[in-house]
Amino acid sequence: MFPRIRNVVSRAAAYGLAAVGGGIYTDYKYNSVETIASEFVSASLAFKHLQREKKKDGPECTSGERDLDQVVYQAAENLSTRATWTLLKYVVFAGHDSDEVYRLEWIIAQLQSINAILVPQKGAQAFEFERQCDLYYGSQVSPEYLDEDRTTQLLQELDELLPRSASPLHERYRAYRNRFVIPKKQYQPVFRKLVDDMIHEMKQHVPELHSAHLTQKYVDDSSLCFEATCQATSRKESEMLVNIARSITYDKAQQLAVHELTHHLQFVLMEHHLYPRFPEMRASIDAGPLDMLLEGGAELVVDLLLPPAERLKDLETRVPRGRFSTGALRDALKVERITWSGLWPCSIRIARDFINGELSKQEAMKAMQEQALKSNDSWPNVAFFEEYGAYVQSYGWGKELILEYLQVLQSQKHPEGNSLEDKRKQILEEYIEFMKRPPTPSRMQDVINQAR
Ligand SMILES: [Zn+2]
Repeated sequence: MFPRIRNVVSRAAAYGLAAVGGGIYTDYKYNSVETIASEFVSASLAFKHLQREKKKDGPECTSGERDLDQVVYQAAENLSTRATWTLLKYVVFAGHDSDEVYRLEWIIAQLQSINAILVPQKGAQAFEFERQCDLYYGSQVSPEYLDEDRTTQLLQELDELLPRSASPLHERYRAYRNRFVIPKKQYQPVFRKLVDDMIHEMKQHVPELHSAHLTQKYVDDSSLCFEATCQATSRKESEMLVNIARSITYDKAQQLAVHELTHHLQFVLMEHHLYPRFPEMRASIDAGPLDMLLEGGAELVVDLLLPPAERLKDLETRVPRGRFSTGALRDALKVERITWSGLWPCSIRIARDFINGELSKQEAMKAMQEQALKSNDSWPNVAFFEEYGAYVQSYGWGKELILEYLQVLQSQKHPEGNSLEDKRKQILEEYIEFMKRPPTPSRMQDVINQAR
């Protein structure tokens, strides 16, 4: 009872303060959401330009880039303060769910991300993993998700599934996996068919996809590329690039195709629904909070579109007839489930310990190989943690966060509960609605916390 009263009192105080602050700020002409949004677009474009230039020049920052860092940082900092005051005003006068609050929350989250990225580049120490999660994405990976016991249990299950031998688990896994690798010559027809089938499946749920065109653009020795255009803009919306220099198994091909095609689906939905209402979202920064939701969402849709039974049925149509029994394919999918989605928390824990300096690069590579079962030439790997820091949490944790959030929405709409199959379909529908106006990760976390 007491915390609740305290909460109400502190909220009232904050709103009172906001009303006064908002009142003062209404006097300034630059205080509309439109103005803040257009200034955000400029700040974001300047930031992206700066990042691109630095990438070209390599790790050593030139003095001109450092000066520009400072300018962009100051502009973003200043805009962030004004946006925060304006947000408070809109919360009081327009309520939490208004479009203005939505826009400002996204703008503030992205400005925070821009500044957090620029601060270490100004010479300060890179942030620890937890601080990166907080500042870049406004979301903290929950300790329950990272539970080590769950990983131990999954590795035991894997040990029982794989053929016995004296070799260490990661070598047994590699040998087992090799049996299901698609012959290189077959990559193109297998992916072409998969992409067609999965797009057909997605169209059943998302009518907007009918106006999206997908073409197989090129194939060379190292990559396969599908390009999607969206009729609403008739320009290229997304590109699905499959790195075929790596060996790909039949089950991995399913996961890859659905993940990448979900990005097409997301772009088409955003093009139709999000950008017309909130044009500044088009200027979202790369590897920021929106991208976290796109990656987590793509992982989630794999499970929603192809639950285990569907996936097995689909797999039986992909592998050459008579090569594997149904039982062998079922086991292969169990192994895939453990080693892909099951071991995400393990990869994230290793990334955290590496970023926080508790593991050296060598130790992190060894742990990735032996515990997360990802050798250095597969993905995610330590090079990815080095380049993108805590961004790796977007995939596994992003998926978990979106699922929890959608489940909260579901349980509010259907408190009586439904069958698992109905729930899956409803969550898929809920996800499609979600993509038309995705909330910030921190807003999602608030909704989840309130429902607990
Ligand atoms: Zn992706």
